[in-house]
Amino acid sequence: MNNPPALDTPLKFLPGVGPARAELLAKELELLTFNDLLHFFPFRYVDRSRFYKVRDLMMASAEVQLKGQIHGFEEKGTGNKKRLTALFEDETGILELVWFKNYKWVKSQIKENEEYVIYGKINWFGDRISMPHPEIEKAEVFKKRGHLGLMPIYPSTEKLTKKGITQKVMQKLVYELFKQVGRNFPETLPEDFKNQNKLIDRSQALYAIHFPKDLNQLAQAQYRLKFEELFYLQLQYVYKNRLRKKKIKGHIFENIGPYFNTFYHEVLDFELTGAQKRVIKEIRKDVKSGAQMNRLLQGDVGSGKTVVAMMSMLMAIDNGFQTALLAPTEILATQHYKTISRWAEKLGLNVSLLTGSTKQKERKIIHQALEDGSLDILIGTHAILEDKVKFKNLGLAVIDEQHRFGVAQRAKMWKKNDIPPHILIMTATPIPRTLSLTHYGDLDVSIIDELPPGRKPVKTMHVYEKEKNKVYHFIRNQINKGRQAYIVYPLIEESEALDYRNLTDGYEEIKEEFLHDGYKIGIVYGKMPAEDKNRVMKKFKDGELDILVSTTVIEVGVDVPNATVMVIESAHRFGLSQLHQLRGRVGRGAEESYCILITDYKLTDDAKTRIQTMVSTQDGFKIAEVDLKLRGPGDILGTQQSGLIKFKIADLLKDRHILLRARLAAERLLESDPSLSAPENRTVALVLADLFKKKGFWNYIG
Ligand code: ADP
Ligand code: MG
Repeated sequence: MNNPPALDTPLKFLPGVGPARAELLAKELELLTFNDLLHFFPFRYVDRSRFYKVRDLMMASAEVQLKGQIHGFEEKGTGNKKRLTALFEDETGILELVWFKNYKWVKSQIKENEEYVIYGKINWFGDRISMPHPEIEKAEVFKKRGHLGLMPIYPSTEKLTKKGITQKVMQKLVYELFKQVGRNFPETLPEDFKNQNKLIDRSQALYAIHFPKDLNQLAQAQYRLKFEELFYLQLQYVYKNRLRKKKIKGHIFENIGPYFNTFYHEVLDFELTGAQKRVIKEIRKDVKSGAQMNRLLQGDVGSGKTVVAMMSMLMAIDNGFQTALLAPTEILATQHYKTISRWAEKLGLNVSLLTGSTKQKERKIIHQALEDGSLDILIGTHAILEDKVKFKNLGLAVIDEQHRFGVAQRAKMWKKNDIPPHILIMTATPIPRTLSLTHYGDLDVSIIDELPPGRKPVKTMHVYEKEKNKVYHFIRNQINKGRQAYIVYPLIEESEALDYRNLTDGYEEIKEEFLHDGYKIGIVYGKMPAEDKNRVMKKFKDGELDILVSTTVIEVGVDVPNATVMVIESAHRFGLSQLHQLRGRVGRGAEESYCILITDYKLTDDAKTRIQTMVSTQDGFKIAEVDLKLRGPGDILGTQQSGLIKFKIADLLKDRHILLRARLAAERLLESDPSLSAPENRTVALVLADLFKKKGFWNYIG
């Protein structure tokens, strides 16, 4: 016998394909080679082992299979209503078959008194049932073919179906593929490993995923292939992380010195939570290890990340290094500056703020102080990343809200010195573990999963637009008690849709409602000059304003403990994570706080789910899980995250447990054989090397 064709053979050489179909398959499904087709997995399966009776069709779902006889052909209608009908009959009843084309051919194929298997979608017209364009096969042939227990259904496009590449054709092509290349494929996982993780052979799995004998076999095949896919992804991450720690030297912060200790014992006026202490220890371990730290710090709004950042910076300063803190907006940078300079002052440390609106003269002074080493802490926005900004010895960079900084920007921070600074990335957007493992799997993660004591949950209510007067009444009450309120709108300008509230309209309305009673109202929005924005924010923070009307610019980090009401207008227009962030602006002081979500009366299902989730929980991780289900990973990670991973078979929403096992397996394997040099791990080493080669391993480090 000849050798089977290689898997990289172009698809046009597969019998049944040819140049025209090959082009279509390439264009529509990105299938180029035999191997691509082998790995083109069905997305669902139809149970063809079950036969319905006509009598039972009432209970049937869309697609059914029946066995019986066909007779009584009739041509009906004229013009484009022309059609062919026939009656299908089993022992229990009759249904009508209908064809709108090809019917001469159909008629010539079917014989009376012969038994057929038909398969298709059923339609109801009153109590009459019909099935348009059924798949038909002689019962005898169907029986001989035998293997149709579960029939694979492949992803397809309209164009493919139109051009005759139907499901049946796809199935035939895959069938032909196996005929050509056989059913033995190289194994990619070691024997022992497979046994430990209860995985079937790759060859078995690849056949069964296309043509499963039964549900059990299908489940095993899916598990094996999903596990493999997730395992190799995790193996890359874990390997990379280990290698980075080995290869990339980091500054060593040997001593915990006077600054850190003085801060902890004398400046800090609250007790750290257990979670904060744990995280600080994790960071401490990293920065004295000799390897560069690249740590993601996740902690819900209000969990106290700033103090962790401060204490990490003090570790650097204690060892003679400079530090930087990057924030995504000027408001945030300014706020960090205030918090941190208040602390730093008591320690005798120098802090500066560098943003887009820093004056040239001031900039020069900062540049100078950075270069001569007299500046200990630089806080700022993207302006810090400019090439002109040079540090004498940057030891640690903290990045707040990494969502808004791309990988490339993070990398810029690296190049500021010969030995890269340690990097601590802080995010208040809890990322579900499935996502952080699949998309930041090479970063180390610390989680603050505990709020400072004494926080009261924010009472969250859903109110319809019509009942807004009640809301205004409520706001009045709170202000009269000395509190402050935020009112947030989704849009800055009336642009896309005229039907929903926009900020300026809202502002007018609020003024009309409150101004004549002597309440003080301010407004901030994104396009406002930074100076004005800061001035208004400061007024609000200092209690000179009762109500702050704004867009989502106040979303992250803004800290005004006396504000107890967060009203969100057109709340159905906001995403879950935004709503959660906004709610996090209140409940920061000792008083009971409230979040009021105002919506239209009619809501989409997704909007309902978002509002209900907000009302029912305040757990950021729970909210993130719901968000992931509603929006999918792409939207959650945002467009800045270029390399959104497309999985062949794994599904982040459904395969969480497989992912966690695969991660553990990857960690264990590298723990026992860090360089994958043991003979039994040779296959794994080769597959991994191949993956790195394809991806340009070093490009996306950091
Ligand atoms: P976030 O994680 O959202 O950045 P912050 O660092 O702004 O949270 O902290 C929110 C508030 O909680 C601040 O006013 C901060 O001083 C306070 N805080 C932080 N940690 C503690 C703690 N352990 N005990 C009491 N208050 C704390
Ligand atoms: Mg913060």
